[in-house]
Amino acid sequence: MSAEVHQFLCRSDNFGLLLHDSASGATAAVDVPDAAPYLAALAHKGWALTDILITHRHGDHIDGVPELRARFPHAKLAIPAQEAGRIEPVTGKADAHLREGDPVHIGTLIGDVIETPGHTLGHIAYHFAKNHLLFAGDTLFSLGCGRVFEGTMDQMWHSLKKLAALPPETRLWCGHEYTQANGQFALTAEPDNAALQARMKDVDALRKQGAFTLPVTLAQELRTNPFLRAGNVQVFVDLRERKNKA
Ligand code: ZN
Ligand code: FE
Repeated sequence: MSAEVHQFLCRSDNFGLLLHDSASGATAAVDVPDAAPYLAALAHKGWALTDILITHRHGDHIDGVPELRARFPHAKLAIPAQEAGRIEPVTGKADAHLREGDPVHIGTLIGDVIETPGHTLGHIAYHFAKNHLLFAGDTLFSLGCGRVFEGTMDQMWHSLKKLAALPPETRLWCGHEYTQANGQFALTAEPDNAALQARMKDVDALRKQGAFTLPVTLAQELRTNPFLRAGNVQVFVDLRERKNKA
């Protein structure tokens, strides 16, 4: 049951993520902005790709899939059911179309699908409850959240509340390294939040070293992320609209 997550940069600010099950050797890619950094990471770790998990249809999350599949033709591709019509023209036919509550098996690791509409209408997150891992794509970022491109503000708010209700020890992995810019905005929303001030000191130091600011626990996000702390949908909408203009 032991899971290792390997995180690396793709493009300018997308994360590449590999989830590895040491018991079986199974390895999943979570979103594929570009194939080359994934191939390098797999070679570096000595892992063979068995699965590809996609959170949503945007190009910066699927464009590398065809090349990765060409290299690992037996890797199984899982995509959100509601976006199959937009994803499969790019990636080819998927092996699984996932909906709320569907199980996901990566070797001996067991995850389940959480539908999180808002950023896109069919966006899904992957939760591996026993391992306390959440892959949130572009729904939840550290100190921020995704832009609401397709869904309603109400849908996005409910999606964030679903993720916020997971166990606080859950480690959050997401689609982009946006934490520093998010935190600068967060401080304008909650200038007196001591936990947020402390987190931003850490974030600034990490970025200065060229280190990543993820993963982070949900407990930490609940103390510091103004979008999770909004309390009601109207406060969330005000924040999201202000951030769009920032
Ligand atoms: Zn996106
Ligand atoms: Fe993205």
